[in-house]
Amino acid sequence: MELKAIRGFSDILPPATSRWRLLEECARKILEGYGFSEIRVPILEKAELFARSIGEETDIVEKEMYTFEDRNGDCITMRPEATASVVRAYIEHKLYAADPVVKLFSIGPMFRHERPQKGRHRQFHQINVEVFGISHSMIDAEVMAIVMDYLSLVGAGGCQLQINSLGCPRCRLPYKEGLWTFLNKHLSQLCEDCRRRMERNPLRVFDCKVPGCQEIITEAPLISDYLCPPCAEHFAAVRGYLETLEIAYEVNPRMVRGLDYYTKTAFEVVAGGLGAQNAVAAGGRYDHLVAALGGPDIPGIGFAIGMERLLLILPDKPFSPGPSLFIAALGEGPQREALGLSHKLNRARVRTMIDYEGRSLKAQMRRADKFGARYVLIIGEDEQRAGQAILRDMEEKKQEEIPLPSIFEEIVRRMGEGSP
Ligand SMILES: [Zn+2]
Ligand SMILES: [Zn+2]
Repeated sequence: MELKAIRGFSDILPPATSRWRLLEECARKILEGYGFSEIRVPILEKAELFARSIGEETDIVEKEMYTFEDRNGDCITMRPEATASVVRAYIEHKLYAADPVVKLFSIGPMFRHERPQKGRHRQFHQINVEVFGISHSMIDAEVMAIVMDYLSLVGAGGCQLQINSLGCPRCRLPYKEGLWTFLNKHLSQLCEDCRRRMERNPLRVFDCKVPGCQEIITEAPLISDYLCPPCAEHFAAVRGYLETLEIAYEVNPRMVRGLDYYTKTAFEVVAGGLGAQNAVAAGGRYDHLVAALGGPDIPGIGFAIGMERLLLILPDKPFSPGPSLFIAALGEGPQREALGLSHKLNRARVRTMIDYEGRSLKAQMRRADKFGARYVLIIGEDEQRAGQAILRDMEEKKQEEIPLPSIFEEIVRRMGEGSP
């Protein structure tokens, strides 16, 4: 039997891994600048955590989670998203006691059993950001500014920010009633799933992909007409702060997000060229989630960036880790010299590779080319006897002889960290 990776689970191979690392490093740089700290939470959690946070009636919990019984008979889920786990950790370790404002980010894999397609994998990766303890609308605008800054830093500046307000329990209740009444009038045109969904959570109908249902939804009442005064004020303030920050946005009154815990602000960042799966990032406020999971009454807001989708819209060129050196050594003595020098240079953070097989100069130059070496140091037996080596600059296409005793300093000066 041929062994292959599981469908929907992908290997990330070099040189693509360098692009992943660049995305992660940029995220750390921006987020640490805004006062975020990294949190690492487990991949496995009790299934109950997601049912209680994301919501029983959502597609994720109903159909998409990897849930299984472990050897003790406990019901375990591979996390389908990070917010629930981060909130669980925030409560469990009483992070609110140390600081009323906590800003956290994490980067890692999530798991959903969906139909694999372009930009959608069963193991996918997210950059996840959460802010606890701020109810002021300024933070809503700021987290959206962070997403947009990040996207333009990594080269995805052309994305569009869409925002909506999902209200609070106070205004959502009459809205759900209004929506239910409307849907009930069109019951015969709704698919079976939607008829079942609307009894427990009519908002879910907005997520239905059946064309007949989508047609009806375009006529449905909108949450914006039901917002209570505090929710409407909050939404207006968020828009005002986005303008202060010069972040372009569009209000999308039909965006409801597929999770139950959102309140007030919800947003998505969409990119052209991704088709139906066009959201690169999404998030929102969750003012009651901490309390719903057994913690104190502390507001929160966060977002996740989908790394696979982001990579789809970025130019497909590997990230260069900087100049490198290849040492082409000819003969036993020079090979020993090359091994020692390469070790010393790598310790000095100069990327250096050598040949191990004692191949011809031509073959070694081909290796150097494949490695993308900026410089090649050639040490032959004659050169070694004369105390010399040849340093060839592959980009400038010129070479010079350098005395062996000063070769280490000479290379570090040209290629070490901090050199031009
Ligand atoms: Zn409200
Ligand atoms: Zn439907």
